[in-house]
Amino acid sequence: MQVFLPEQSYKACAQVLDQKRLVKQLLEGRQILSALAGETKGWVNHPATRMFAGVEDELVRYLYAIKNEMEQRKYKWENNWSIIIETFNRNFHGNEFKDPDYLKPGHPENHRLITTHRGRLYEKAPELYPQYKYEANNYRQYVCCDRCNYYWPTHPKKEKNCLITSESLPPALLQSA
Ligand SMILES: [Zn+2]
Repeated sequence: MQVFLPEQSYKACAQVLDQKRLVKQLLEGRQILSALAGETKGWVNHPATRMFAGVEDELVRYLYAIKNEMEQRKYKWENNWSIIIETFNRNFHGNEFKDPDYLKPGHPENHRLITTHRGRLYEKAPELYPQYKYEANNYRQYVCCDRCNYYWPTHPKKEKNCLITSESLPPALLQSA
């Protein structure tokens, strides 16, 4: 379960994902949105779900980019996408949404998140993500805690290595973004 965010724009995220992960994103995004809506019980406490609680509009913007890229590549997107739109309209239409730092392009917390996603993508499939080799070598210092392979924004900040300082900014990302 993951919402892959290896780039600052959702469109760029969608474009860079390989077929297997791109297609899974629409399904997993649908499951996350249904969990946030309280319509399903699974995945409710998963950190990928919790990071979009109150930010469901951003999740749907992301999934819209995923859907567009799937359409470009001639994959089937219709079923999951119509459920996503219906679920959003039924539960979140007209809501006021949060604007968290970890989803703000250019914010240090967003850089931190992106760096761990790049590093993990390279680790999982180096042949598909050679451009993230740099991050694979250093992303470990940006994960939220020792138990995690990503930076999950909703994990407790009281843990020492969850504090964000100017020294903890990933330098390579600033150049490649
Ligand atoms: Zn953690």
